[in-house]
Amino acid sequence: MSKGLNDSRTDFPILDQEVNGEPLVYLDNAATTQKPVSVLQTIMHYYEHDNANVHRGVHTLAERATEQFEAARDKVAAFINAPSRKTIVYTRSTTESLNWIASSFGNAVVNEGDEIVISELEHHSNVVPWQQVAKNQHATLKYIGLTADGELDMDDARKQITDKTKIVAIAHASNVMGVVNPIKELAQLAHAHNAYMVADGAQSTPHLKVDVQDLDVDFYAFSGHKMLAPTGIGILYGKPEILDEMEPTQFGGEMINEVHEQAADWKESPWKFEAGTPNISGAIALGSAIDYLNNLGMDNISAYEQELVDYTLPKLTQIDGITVYGPHDPAKHTGVLSFNLEGLHPHDVATGLDMDGIAVRAGHHCAQPLMEYLSCEATCRASFYFYNTKEEADRLLDALNEVKEFFANGTSKAERTV
Ligand code: PMP
Repeated sequence: MSKGLNDSRTDFPILDQEVNGEPLVYLDNAATTQKPVSVLQTIMHYYEHDNANVHRGVHTLAERATEQFEAARDKVAAFINAPSRKTIVYTRSTTESLNWIASSFGNAVVNEGDEIVISELEHHSNVVPWQQVAKNQHATLKYIGLTADGELDMDDARKQITDKTKIVAIAHASNVMGVVNPIKELAQLAHAHNAYMVADGAQSTPHLKVDVQDLDVDFYAFSGHKMLAPTGIGILYGKPEILDEMEPTQFGGEMINEVHEQAADWKESPWKFEAGTPNISGAIALGSAIDYLNNLGMDNISAYEQELVDYTLPKLTQIDGITVYGPHDPAKHTGVLSFNLEGLHPHDVATGLDMDGIAVRAGHHCAQPLMEYLSCEATCRASFYFYNTKEEADRLLDALNEVKEFFANGTSKAERTV
């Protein structure tokens, strides 16, 4: 077995196991990624040596915990080229980040008759919060369509984004179609109409170099668990002048400046958004995950994943009876490969693959409007990260043929080889 990018595989002990008698092939990275030993050790070290609540105590452990918590924030800021730590708010996840933007900023700037523009390929967490804003404010939610290839239709974007638009909210990379959307161009379009640009970075931040200042987005949201960190830690980036104006959505300890019987005021950003005890170990572990990614180099990660796609996609599209969603040109496709096999339910395909030790996702991928748009109920999705190998891609391709054979003729590999 080759070792993934820079022999990284051995850093992920979970990958070294058998599932149903076969070596595990983990291809569900768009759902969540595995964690390297260094991140696991960071968590362990924090609880063994430094655990204390942040921003509160003057004792040594509290100072150490606070220092590491804020140092991790600096690492996040540098990772996405944000101008300062003040623009980085710790949340639980992309979902929470997007909900905060919608419920605080969205409800404040969207008025009756205004329009919010999203696209047909959004994850539910970048759909439903905007539906709520549209309902609350009597505004209209509009969708940018896709090209026949499954890319965002920029001609349609130019039609949908108008002077009535207040917010444009688009995924930087799709969790189903395997495309990267032109966020910089969309931000320019949005700003030309005095609208704000929100980007959902859940599927982009783990895989490509993100520069929020170059993209000129007003908000950017992503999740730690999709980029080697634990679950329960996410990031909301906002332009400093916007975060300064934005009201918190949660209130309580930590976020206040002063509290009196009838009134209170808040700290400055980002701390005014972080009410209560935060996910301290999660934030510090996210810093450690960023160290790991920086060590590999985001450009190397993107290039290696592209190699995997160049290798796999042409072979995948050649399987008889397969529909592969998104562009068939590997140069336009990320490591998220969604497909269906003719006549087979994606859950049956995923179960068949699991019998071969291969973990893929089957379902609507929290993108039901997209499924409706594509006129399919569900898909199978195999998604790469830098620790995957071409041999694993071959295992997937072979197993798909096996699954087809099994459902067509009722014979499994084991039965045919006796
Ligand atoms: N947006 C996209 C594009 C996603 O892929 C996901 C996760 N599948 C989310 C948002 C939500 O991320 P989380 O569940 O970590 O909040």
